[in-house]
Amino acid sequence: MAERTYIRDGRSPVPKDSRVSEQMSRIRSKNTKPERWMRAALTALGIRGYRLNYAKAAGKPDIAFVGRKVAVFVHGCFWHCCPHCQPRRPKTHTDFWDLKLDRNMQRDRHHARALRKEGWRVITVWECRLKKDPQAQARRVRKALQAGPAGR
Ligand SMILES: [Zn+2]
Repeated sequence: MAERTYIRDGRSPVPKDSRVSEQMSRIRSKNTKPERWMRAALTALGIRGYRLNYAKAAGKPDIAFVGRKVAVFVHGCFWHCCPHCQPRRPKTHTDFWDLKLDRNMQRDRHHARALRKEGWRVITVWECRLKKDPQAQARRVRKALQAGPAGR
C-alpha cells in the first residue's frame, strides 16, 4: 500500500528521530489515509459530487466542489506545520528543514489567498483533528457547502 511505504521526496535527509520519521512517512502522496478518512466521512453525510486533486484551482485542492467553490485541503501535520499538534521538526539538518517547512507554509497561505480571491471557500482539514473526529470535519465542509457563495 502506498501509504505504508516510506514516502519522502528524494532530497529530504532521513530523520534520526523515529517519531519525526513516522510523521513524515504518512503523507506526500495521492490518496493517503487521511484523504480516505475524509472522503469516507463525507460519504457518511451523503456529500458527493466533488473532484479530487483539482488541478484547475490554485494549490490543486485535495477535494474540490467546483460549482459551489468549496476547496478542501487535507493536510498532514508534519509537512504543513499543524498549529494544533505542532509536530516537532527534525533536529538534524535544521536549515534544510526550516527552509522546506517554512516554504510549505508559505505556499499553503499563498494558495488559500489565491482561492479566496477567486471566490472559493477554503477549508483546511488537519490530519490530527480528522483522526480524532472525522465527522466533525465533514460537518465543516457541509456547512461551507450550505453557506452559499463566499462574500468578497
Ligand atoms: Zn496536527
